[in-house]
Amino acid sequence: MLKKILIMFFLSFSLLLSEDKGWDGFEDPGFGNFSFLTTSWGELDFFDSWQILSTFYFDVYYYNEVVVQDVVDYGDQVYDMIIEDFGWLYFSMPKRVSIYIYRNAAEYARKTDMSQWAGGHADLKQNAIYSYEQKNIFANVIVHELTHLVFDAYMGYPRCMAINWLHEGVAIYEEKKVLNKVWKLKYLKDLDKQGELISIRDLFKTHIGLQETSQKVGLWYFEVGTLIAYLRTLDKDGFRIFTQNLKNYNNIVEALKMTYPWGFKGIDDLEKGWKNWLYQKGDTI
Ligand SMILES: [Zn+2]
Repeated sequence: MLKKILIMFFLSFSLLLSEDKGWDGFEDPGFGNFSFLTTSWGELDFFDSWQILSTFYFDVYYYNEVVVQDVVDYGDQVYDMIIEDFGWLYFSMPKRVSIYIYRNAAEYARKTDMSQWAGGHADLKQNAIYSYEQKNIFANVIVHELTHLVFDAYMGYPRCMAINWLHEGVAIYEEKKVLNKVWKLKYLKDLDKQGELISIRDLFKTHIGLQETSQKVGLWYFEVGTLIAYLRTLDKDGFRIFTQNLKNYNNIVEALKMTYPWGFKGIDDLEKGWKNWLYQKGDTI
């Protein structure tokens, strides 16, 4: 099924990542009072009030202009920043991206066949991002989903690797980088002292989903984000070479050993290095 093929990326869970963000992805949007016909996946039957604004890279479909103002004002700039950060020489990006902002979570869920708890998702085949009107949509949803689009173009197809942690980590990392989000590393250090961090092995294995508690979900996202931040500090071209090795060999341990022969013999060494990095950093970065 098409929807199984599409890689769905959900809103990041940013409570732990930044001081001023809430669990927008988990807000109960409520049911009832909606009488529109359900549409099938991919069918976008817009209402008369649907508007379109185009920027250099984006076609933004929306109902209320104020909601998409940040997307229109900063979207192109942030897109350039993300592409630049991945090294634009090494991959080709979609020239245009469509962004659809539905009126609310219920309309979004009905028209995209997504779950109501998702804050948005990127459709990699359509070069499109789907979301709905919500607080801080640019900072909390669009930048994250845009990073998934860019990173997927960077990693290329076929996409058979179990690298959910990498995709989400990169999206969280770019959110911080391009939006100057604040990370409270003290939270991770405190959990580490209590033996309650998710191990790197488990980060790699976990495909985070609704069965987890919201605290566990938030922690998973935070940890994979900081893991990418740590990997990015190791050497200038290291991350690009690591991802290239991952593509070629589809094996994290091999990719680590080949990229960082001086450092990692396996995942335990990576975990040690990441924790050392955490403790070298301040409580807030
Ligand atoms: Zn994501």
